[in-house]
Amino acid sequence: MQYTWNDIEQHVMVCRQCPLSQTRHLPVMGRGNRQADIMLIAEAPGGQEDEQGIPFVGRSGEILDRLLHDCGLDRKELYMTNIIKCHPPGNRDPKEEEKDACFPYLKYETFLLKPRIIVCLGRVAAQRIISPDFKITRQHGTWTVRKNCALTATFHPSAILREPSRYESVKADFCEVVKKHALRY
Ligand code: SF4
Repeated sequence: MQYTWNDIEQHVMVCRQCPLSQTRHLPVMGRGNRQADIMLIAEAPGGQEDEQGIPFVGRSGEILDRLLHDCGLDRKELYMTNIIKCHPPGNRDPKEEEKDACFPYLKYETFLLKPRIIVCLGRVAAQRIISPDFKITRQHGTWTVRKNCALTATFHPSAILREPSRYESVKADFCEVVKKHALRY
């Protein structure tokens, strides 16, 4: 059966496939341009996303907007989502069984979007999408190609909140995304 964006969204909004459904406030479906070439994938919704049901809001969202602006990108050019759609209590890492339960939604999002570039934000996303042994500190900004899609990873904007000195290297990674995107046309 071929699912549509609306089908996926409706499933996510009522999903009870893992225990996070008991503690979340709102599920957080991916959001953005559904014709975008660039897809951002982070780990999980944070506390403010959980309250609002929207990905990348709050202080991390502000940092992301600043990074995008500094590299000449705009949210309107991107699709943004998470590996899991419900907030893990206390911002803990998602458990393997939670990631497995939620992964079909990400697969459908990726299938419908058909991105040319995927940017993983943070270790958890990079290890799920690029390689289980991906080391974000050493390997951020590196690229690999899979099925006609270029994949890379950088730190999650929340890591910049914890360590502001990371800003410039994350900005450099995002600016490479812009260059890579331009080269593909
Ligand atoms: S995290 Fe994913 S699988 Fe678990 S309840 Fe939320 S939407 Fe469903």
